[in-house]
Amino acid sequence: MTARPILPGAIIGVLGSGQLGRMFAIAARRMGYRVHTYSPDEDTPTGQVADLEITGAYDDLDRVREFARGVSAVTFEFENVPAATAAAAAECAPVRPTGEVLHTTQHRLREKTFLSNAGIPVATFSAVNSPDEVRAALLRQGYPAILKSADFGYDGKGQARIDRRENVDQAWKEAGASTAVLESFVPFEREVSVVAARGLDGAFVHYGVIENDHKRRILDLSIAPAHVSAKTEADAIDIARTILDKLGVVGVLCVEFFVLPDGSLVVNELAPRPHNSGHLTFDACVTSQFEQQLRAVCGLPLGSTERLCPAAMANLLGDLWCKAEPDWVAACAHPNVKLHLYGKLEPRPGRKMGHLTALGPDALAQVLAARDSLAHS
Ligand code: AMP
Repeated sequence: MTARPILPGAIIGVLGSGQLGRMFAIAARRMGYRVHTYSPDEDTPTGQVADLEITGAYDDLDRVREFARGVSAVTFEFENVPAATAAAAAECAPVRPTGEVLHTTQHRLREKTFLSNAGIPVATFSAVNSPDEVRAALLRQGYPAILKSADFGYDGKGQARIDRRENVDQAWKEAGASTAVLESFVPFEREVSVVAARGLDGAFVHYGVIENDHKRRILDLSIAPAHVSAKTEADAIDIARTILDKLGVVGVLCVEFFVLPDGSLVVNELAPRPHNSGHLTFDACVTSQFEQQLRAVCGLPLGSTERLCPAAMANLLGDLWCKAEPDWVAACAHPNVKLHLYGKLEPRPGRKMGHLTALGPDALAQVLAARDSLAHS
């Protein structure tokens, strides 16, 4: 039995208050919904555009219940909320996707175990609890390898590459975890992602394969369509469908992949929410990933994911602010480039402050030219 849809006019609750919640709130308000956001912070990217910003700790479960009682459904834009928070919210309103999806995807070891049990290719990995266990795993797996904290860190933190036995103690300190995953280094040719959505009725849609370029382990550029063969594209979409179905996702989930030189795929990680690589859908697709999240969470039919033209997205990190305020006028002089800023109050190196999207056959060149012009004040 499918639950009745939640209709425009209803209030949707968002756990977390960053840029993903902001773009979700913009999409939701456009369709006549109201949005309440809950996080420990004030004057947040989501709160600035939501109808109500509630400031509270994630472990203040009474406050979380009160927040959930005031909305028709709860979703999240930040997957590291504690399981108890999602469970408390679920006592008072439907939480979509469920706390179980969060539980699996917020912990690398659980996520990788789920993927490998589902027969999905992942890098060779071992669970490790001490530098000695890392050394033992390296004997089996070989070099190079990447040590990652099992609990997700923020902004690419909690990771260290190991090229030699002598690096192990330092890497263990850098990962800063008591439980970690030692992953073999994947000699990939490119990185891609599939952003997909699954409705309350099990309907599945996807945005095709998007190509991603990272700098300092942070996403820098996304380009759609990706430069991959038809077979790689079909395989990536099949894998995404399997993952969303097996997890029973109601909402949006992004699968990040490594593409090997022979076109085969290895899944790197999952994000059970709209994803930075899908930001270009906001300007380039009939239904953005944020509207799709809203539709799924509300039990509405999913919208068309058709991309109207090629698109490219460039992130704007806080580093751009280091000398002076970026030259917004110069960026706006590129008429096919759309500027998105998240309303964050403090620019810091590595902090995602906004992005640019360009549309058309030369989207990548345009978005890079616009970003370059920001620094030329
Ligand atoms: P993650 O936070 O796991 O997505 O890692 C951030 C970035 O580090 C990835 O997008 C890759 O560029 C790189 N990376 C992570 N894991 C591996 C791996 N096993 N092999 C090669 N590169 C990796």
